[in-house]
Amino acid sequence: MQAPTPVAVEGTEQLVYEIHLTNFSHERLQLRSIQVLDEDDAVPLATFAGASLANRAYFVGSTDADGVSAPVSVAPGQRLVLYVEIACRSSRQLPRAIVHHIEYSVGNESATFEVAGGRTTVGQDVPIALAPPVGDGEWVAVHHPDWPRGHRRVFYALGGRARLPGRFAIDFVKINDHGKIAAGDPDVVSNSFGYGSPVLAVADAKVVAVRRDIVESSRVSGHPKASLDDAAGNYIVLSLGDRRFAFYEHLRPGSIRVNVGEGVKRGQVIAALGFTGESSAPHLHFHVADGSTPLGAEGIPFTFHRFVLLGHYSRIGELGSTRWEPLNSGLPATRIDEMPSANAVLHF
Ligand SMILES: [Zn+2]
Repeated sequence: MQAPTPVAVEGTEQLVYEIHLTNFSHERLQLRSIQVLDEDDAVPLATFAGASLANRAYFVGSTDADGVSAPVSVAPGQRLVLYVEIACRSSRQLPRAIVHHIEYSVGNESATFEVAGGRTTVGQDVPIALAPPVGDGEWVAVHHPDWPRGHRRVFYALGGRARLPGRFAIDFVKINDHGKIAAGDPDVVSNSFGYGSPVLAVADAKVVAVRRDIVESSRVSGHPKASLDDAAGNYIVLSLGDRRFAFYEHLRPGSIRVNVGEGVKRGQVIAALGFTGESSAPHLHFHVADGSTPLGAEGIPFTFHRFVLLGHYSRIGELGSTRWEPLNSGLPATRIDEMPSANAVLHF
């Protein structure tokens, strides 16, 4: 499994990882709570129970789009994945290793049992700091850990191993001051503010993969469902060195200006934002992973050198119809070497 690597988000250090649990017993087990502790001093970093546990749970193989409801009940042989995000206060030292205390009950009995396990070291690498992937204007960094079908949750099993390439993926959607995503009819792809916007190299890098053969529909409603092979649409993969690769997906047909083997300079225009592949509106999908294939690599954290945080959408369904919620805390708007938080509105 992937050891969690801390990444800075709005003044906290976040640990983002998954716990895989398999019920090897012959009885149904009710998962009561999971506590995450710092191994060195046994201080609890987070506890998940009830809805906060169920919202993080996914049964491998389940097609239920509504997710899991509380209490989390695990049948014999069933495998459960828990998606964990923990914000560690900056006043506290980051743990060197974490352990988990799992409380459960058997069948309909009320007696509870506790097991300790799932020890993992905490990654010590500093996430790579990048230049902007998009240009001027206001952008929503769409990502949310709770979506049952979001990037954060979708495993791809290739070559005998299940990986989460989109663990830290962000969909960049361009908006105007009113939170609209398009001028006029949003069903017309070319009306969307982001469509055709320049897509930029986030670092001096080498182009290691390009796909440019996928066509696009002119209407959002007319978009065909993409197969798994075509889900990324037209894409570019840049090698950033040190086994880190930047992925740009859903690029506009005919817009890719680079070829495999070429070097690119930070800030260079490499393509235009488009609407190819599996997508519900024009946007740039961006993530960093530890391998160069879209589905066969583990997503790893990254930060941006600098961006200005304008606010958030706490209800992402409101994107496109209302303005975002402005920053209300004392948080400075200029963020340095951080990853944008879920559904943050920003400009670079
Ligand atoms: Zn995406």
